[in-house]
Amino acid sequence: TKFVKGAKERKELYNKVLELKGNIRVFCRCRPLNSEEIAAGDSMAIDFESAKDGELTVISNGAPKKTFKFDAVFGPQAEQSDVFQDTAPFATSVLDGFNVCIFAYGQTGTGKTFTMEGTKENRGVNFRTLEELFRIINERKKFCRYEISVSALEVYNEQIRDLLVSGSQQSMMTKRLEVRQVGEGMHHIPGLVEAHVNDMKEVWEVLQTGSNARAVGSTNANEHSSRSHCLHCVMVKGENLLNGECTKSKLWLVDLAGSERVAKTDVLGERLKETQNINRSLSALGDVISALATKSPHIPFRNSKLTHLLQDSLGGDSKTLMFVQISPNENDLGETLCSLNFASRVRGIELGPAKKQI
Ligand code: ADP
Repeated sequence: TKFVKGAKERKELYNKVLELKGNIRVFCRCRPLNSEEIAAGDSMAIDFESAKDGELTVISNGAPKKTFKFDAVFGPQAEQSDVFQDTAPFATSVLDGFNVCIFAYGQTGTGKTFTMEGTKENRGVNFRTLEELFRIINERKKFCRYEISVSALEVYNEQIRDLLVSGSQQSMMTKRLEVRQVGEGMHHIPGLVEAHVNDMKEVWEVLQTGSNARAVGSTNANEHSSRSHCLHCVMVKGENLLNGECTKSKLWLVDLAGSERVAKTDVLGERLKETQNINRSLSALGDVISALATKSPHIPFRNSKLTHLLQDSLGGDSKTLMFVQISPNENDLGETLCSLNFASRVRGIELGPAKKQI
């Protein structure tokens, strides 16, 4: 608590962090109906009346069908700043030496990229979390020193691509990048670019470089991004100047591939392989989380590149935040229920006691 000084709200925030210990959090966010859906007269399938209590009710044919409870529910009117207010405690945790993984899950078009990346006018969790890190670093500068670096990568068809290396080098790098174990539970990707950042201007440049690189080499940028996982890894080295203690922690910010089920009979060739890889990695993520929940002696981290990469930030004393993104449209009800059920399964999970702290 010695890091938290003054303002009442800082204290409240810190209390929230304490409550977060050892737990996974699931926030549900629903996008608004878009102008085409409104023009088509599509109806809303979600009732947000109890959103402030973390509840939402799915409505089908005008009748309530099922109620879900999450740690927070953000309806179509929620702003990026509202969402970030509840996400900010995770930034404090990273600087306290915990590994954190924040990921967005859901059907394509439900706002995963909007929540994580956001837009220039309406920045998302990635930018805001880094901004919060720098704000706290400044607040702690008399007794702590921190170094921050950022990597940006993509997992497409079970291959890791470095988004911070330029065009011609990318395909060469893609072939080489593999996750290696470097210590108990700790993982590293040899050769991956880690950009050292000193301020938000540098952060913005790195995030932009990564974002621009995603579209390179694909004929349809939107389709490509919905079929690949986009990951940012923020590495934090901290030194407490009062007692010389050092910490190393990692923050993963993950925009997952679309979770929609594609009938295998509908796709062929390269597209079928893509679909199988997406299904495999998302179900591997679900399997890892449920193995952690049941305290299974074997956690199947190695079943996909995604879970292998996130291994040291899922389970143990790390903290996890999942955004389950949904559409309000009654036409999407099938996918919405799948996502909400997946998220409910994830929420039942204790990730074990937290211990690390400077
Ligand atoms: P996904 O990444 O899940 O495929 P996107 O983030 O691309 O979805 O969102 C699809 C569209 O909906 C985008 O045009 C985005 O700007 C818009 N959108 C998503 N969520 C919201 C929101 N909460 N408020 C306003 N617009 C949103």
